[in-house]
Amino acid sequence: MRLSRYFMPILKENPKEAEIVSHRLMLRAGMIRQQSQGIYSWLPLGKRVLDKVNVIIRDEQNRAGAIELSMPTLQSAELWQESGRYDAYGKEMLRIKDRQDRPMLYGPTNEEMVTDIFRSSVKSYKDLPLNLYHIQLKFRDEIRPRFGTMRSREFMMKDAYSFDLTREAAEHSYNKMFAAYLRTFDRLGLRAIPMRADTGPIGGNLSHEFIILADTGESEVFCHKDFVGFDIPGDRTDFDSVEGLQAIFDKWTSLYAATSEMHDEAAFNAVPEGDRLSARGIEVGHIFYFGTKYSEPMGAKVQGPDGKEHFVHMGSYGIGPTRLVPAIIEASHDDNGIIWPASVAPFDIVVINMKAGDQACDDTCELIYAALTKAGKDVLYDDTDDRAGTKFATADLIGVPVQIIAGPRAVANGEVEVKDRKTGARETMTIEAAINRFVA
Ligand code: ATP
Ligand code: MG
Repeated sequence: MRLSRYFMPILKENPKEAEIVSHRLMLRAGMIRQQSQGIYSWLPLGKRVLDKVNVIIRDEQNRAGAIELSMPTLQSAELWQESGRYDAYGKEMLRIKDRQDRPMLYGPTNEEMVTDIFRSSVKSYKDLPLNLYHIQLKFRDEIRPRFGTMRSREFMMKDAYSFDLTREAAEHSYNKMFAAYLRTFDRLGLRAIPMRADTGPIGGNLSHEFIILADTGESEVFCHKDFVGFDIPGDRTDFDSVEGLQAIFDKWTSLYAATSEMHDEAAFNAVPEGDRLSARGIEVGHIFYFGTKYSEPMGAKVQGPDGKEHFVHMGSYGIGPTRLVPAIIEASHDDNGIIWPASVAPFDIVVINMKAGDQACDDTCELIYAALTKAGKDVLYDDTDDRAGTKFATADLIGVPVQIIAGPRAVANGEVEVKDRKTGARETMTIEAAINRFVA
């Protein structure tokens, strides 16, 4: 991508409305724009990051056996009347009437709809287990939308829904998502700690929130500090192994970890004082097992091996991609801007032409840009005629992991500089060496 032809509206000044660093940096880097309170456009740079986050989420959902579909944002109120949640949900639900005066709503979550899909076609235990997910916009008319896309009214959610014949089978489905979440957040460059959580309006009795520790987090959390160093389930994790996944769950729930709603002061005080971590956190994911809470009122049942009908045991599993992007920034930035983990960086490499219009600089940059692009890298080429200082500031601000800098003096020697955004380390090397380093 040539920056001269891209759309990346950088702000020079710090936007006054931004209270936390991620919101400030997302606005300054031209990633998002607020359209009305708590409702955002994702501008091209932001969209790239969001898409990369979703690729990782999807990959780990698929690995764990979940199956993607797409459900609409607008739902009929009837479904929610069946489950009894239409009245219970309160003012967070945006209620709409269509031209025939039929009550509709902008979905805040999808338990009812997915249960309806399930009951219309699954009739036998032989079709279980089943886990269906989608990555879709939701709307919740939050009383206090704030911090940009961290807490917005319209936001994106990956929500998965599992269906099983028995509670034991449903617990295995829960453990699959539990392990998938640990892997997902790790691949996003985050350390998320599963904490016992309240089930809220979703209902049920087994639930964990995945929390990232951050001073700007909205939740107050309490946990054992050893979680920070726990091993993440590896690539070879067998998601069909009941014992294997139970062992992962047991290990990751063996120490104290709870959000303030579930906090047990006495249990926390039993943790040795030096191991206690009481901090603030950002909820990036939330998983629930809620048994037959929806399957009973909505009549979602299957025939079991005993020939009888059984209401299915369900769970639901949410991750917020549009919250994850600012959460990653909260965890990874410095005074100059964002520092993206390579896995979600909007571009892999930025090529900075310090003197656009200078033949040698132009030729060198074009050569590098073409070679790296051909090798499958996402490359941003800053070919604008801005001052070098402005270009450096922009490159640091948008947080691309690697900068290849071509200035007249180095280029005259057949060389460029390679800068690591995270460490700030700079290395001068030949043009060829710079290309070869990133062409594996
Ligand atoms: P919170 O406690 O932060 O209000 P929640 O418990 O209501 O969230 P869930 O119903 O568990 O949220 O939704 C699953 C995930 O969706 C959350 O873990 C979070 O990542 C994301 N999410 C929920 N509400 C919002 C929001 N208003 N803006 C952005 N992301 C959100
Ligand atoms: Mg929650």
